[in-house]
Amino acid sequence: MPKIAPEEIAKIREQTDIVEIIGDYIPLTQKGKNFFGICPFHQDHSPSMSVSREKQMFKCFSCGAAGNVFKFVSDYENIPFLEAVEKVAAKVGINVHFAKGYKEPSKYEREYEIMNLAMVFYQNNLQTEAASKAREYLSVRGLTSEMLKTFDIGLSFTKDQLRKFLEGKKISNEEMFDLGLVNQKGTVYTDVFFDRILFPIHDPDGHVVAFTGRVYAKDATPKYLNSKETKIFKKGNILFNYHRAKDHVRLEKKVIIVEGNMDAIRMYASGFKNTIALMGTSLTKEQITLIQKLHVPVILMFDNDEAGALATHTNGKLLMDAGLNVSVVRLSGQKDPDEYILSNGVEKMAEVLKHPLTFLEFQYEYFKANKDLSDAGTLTTYVREVLNSLAGADPITVDITLNKLCEEYHLSYEVLKSQMLPIKEEKKLSK
Ligand SMILES: [Zn+2]
Repeated sequence: MPKIAPEEIAKIREQTDIVEIIGDYIPLTQKGKNFFGICPFHQDHSPSMSVSREKQMFKCFSCGAAGNVFKFVSDYENIPFLEAVEKVAAKVGINVHFAKGYKEPSKYEREYEIMNLAMVFYQNNLQTEAASKAREYLSVRGLTSEMLKTFDIGLSFTKDQLRKFLEGKKISNEEMFDLGLVNQKGTVYTDVFFDRILFPIHDPDGHVVAFTGRVYAKDATPKYLNSKETKIFKKGNILFNYHRAKDHVRLEKKVIIVEGNMDAIRMYASGFKNTIALMGTSLTKEQITLIQKLHVPVILMFDNDEAGALATHTNGKLLMDAGLNVSVVRLSGQKDPDEYILSNGVEKMAEVLKHPLTFLEFQYEYFKANKDLSDAGTLTTYVREVLNSLAGADPITVDITLNKLCEEYHLSYEVLKSQMLPIKEEKKLSK
């Protein structure tokens, strides 16, 4: 039996819901916060087994059988612990990576555990009766209960609930403050998030490291509130949904990058699971490294507005300079991929994704936008921008683009070509 690294096991456990898994083996009925079923480990007649979603544990009040999800599967199926881990991983769609040996646990185990507790706490809130307004809002926005579960979406109520809950778990105010879960005013600590729908942000290894909180009641501001940067959360080191998408990226042999978290969620839920979202307007060096590690071509599909076009231009250039193969999808009609799928359906999106522009084609159009090219000066600037962008491009692309310029603007191929060469040399020298 090959070994599995402990953090891998922890990751599988984090992404698993014990109620779902045990519910596949025995019927469970919810009573209050917990679920109950007939215990399979003794001759049970009344439901003696309690399963806690909050603690991710099961316990039989009659025979004393107890443990986490892996213990249940291992005991029920009578298989070794690691085989149970594999089985659970497969059920939740995680590829288990076999490690040669056990690695040291991360130095941030406790921080990850606390963030995970917070996430589960918020998730549970969303299931309560008091959450009906928030659930209604989510349902109107087209978020199904399956999507809420996949993306661990939760809800915060009043100001001090999470803090009290974590205090009950022996977690200090200082620890919560360091993780950006509470604010501090003198000696008083209060929750950061209240009356917000919470989207957990995971690091590339799948640890919950931050939250984005969105208001759902009208008039509240700011619309989005993000966790502050902490020792486990550096915004520039993270791409939203990267940990979920990376295996699908390898399968699909391409990665789709969108602007907003909601776009990534919609894309993923619509079957485009190789989608990640920017965490800001411009990619950092660390984020580019993360994308490089995927070793696949990139499709940029940002918002259908000027800011989105600018972001496509800026980030596309960064990725091209990093040696990546970049293509671009510009949507028309709706403002972003989320709305595009909601209005036009999944098949239309699949169709659009089949015909992306090369980055150079995108630039050709981008440099033109809002320009009056009947003006000779403006046209000259435009042509120079296009020629500049061709530096380093492959000769066929260069030829196609030059011919296009000649035809559209009645320019001489020779002149264009002669204007291109010095630019290319200049670029090489400055490297
Ligand atoms: Zn029992």
